[in-house]
Amino acid sequence: MEFTLDLALIRDVLKRETGQSRRDIEELGLLEALGRAGRRHDAALAEAADAATLACAVGCSWCCHFTVDVRAVEAFRILEFVKTRLSQEQAQAIYDQVRCNSAAIKRLSDDERAARNEKCPFLVQGFCAIYEARPQSCRNYHATDATGCQRSYQEPENLDIDPDFAPATYQIGGAHVEAFSGAMNEAGFDDRVYELNCALEAALSDPQAQERFLNGLTPFIDLVGDDVPMEFADLRPSGDGVNKVG
Ligand code: SF4
Repeated sequence: MEFTLDLALIRDVLKRETGQSRRDIEELGLLEALGRAGRRHDAALAEAADAATLACAVGCSWCCHFTVDVRAVEAFRILEFVKTRLSQEQAQAIYDQVRCNSAAIKRLSDDERAARNEKCPFLVQGFCAIYEARPQSCRNYHATDATGCQRSYQEPENLDIDPDFAPATYQIGGAHVEAFSGAMNEAGFDDRVYELNCALEAALSDPQAQERFLNGLTPFIDLVGDDVPMEFADLRPSGDGVNKVG
């Protein structure tokens, strides 16, 4: 689907969110700052001009079988949520599913992973068990016709399926992700992208991973993250630096 970028809209979100995220990271710490950014992200999408056109609804979960990308900070916040907000039985079932999924897909290419339709470990009876702490990419779903999502599920090897989506929602959501990642990068934290199950398994199996991450080091020893170029990089507020973690 083709559309024209709304540069003013993207610049406005990037400027506001980058500044707020910088302040929150400094004052509240990274995990709490992410929680606040997530609440602003949800509120902004609820007010998007095309929010009413979205097909995404409670109980629709085709996309919960697609590959989910996360930053390390999201994996740590999700695990904190699971530990503090879910029962021990729920948490254990999720840990078991994470390990099972990770073992199945860790060595696969992106396309091979996509073809497996691996169910997200947090999808329980059709609902997201960690909705409040769900990844940024899950907040950003913007389909206007669920049949496109269903087709992608039924034909995971067909990369030509291009479901219709809500452009304003897509741009606002993307700008929120980039603003927080950019602020995190400036503060010296790893902002590389990892597959959800593999990042969670790496965090669960190494008690030092979070400490390494919070000290500005690479969090996962055996997991290579992707340096994903920012889609709206040239629209970011000027003077933004790009740091590299060790
Ligand atoms: S984290 Fe929640 S919303 Fe995201 S894929 Fe998993 S179940 Fe779906």
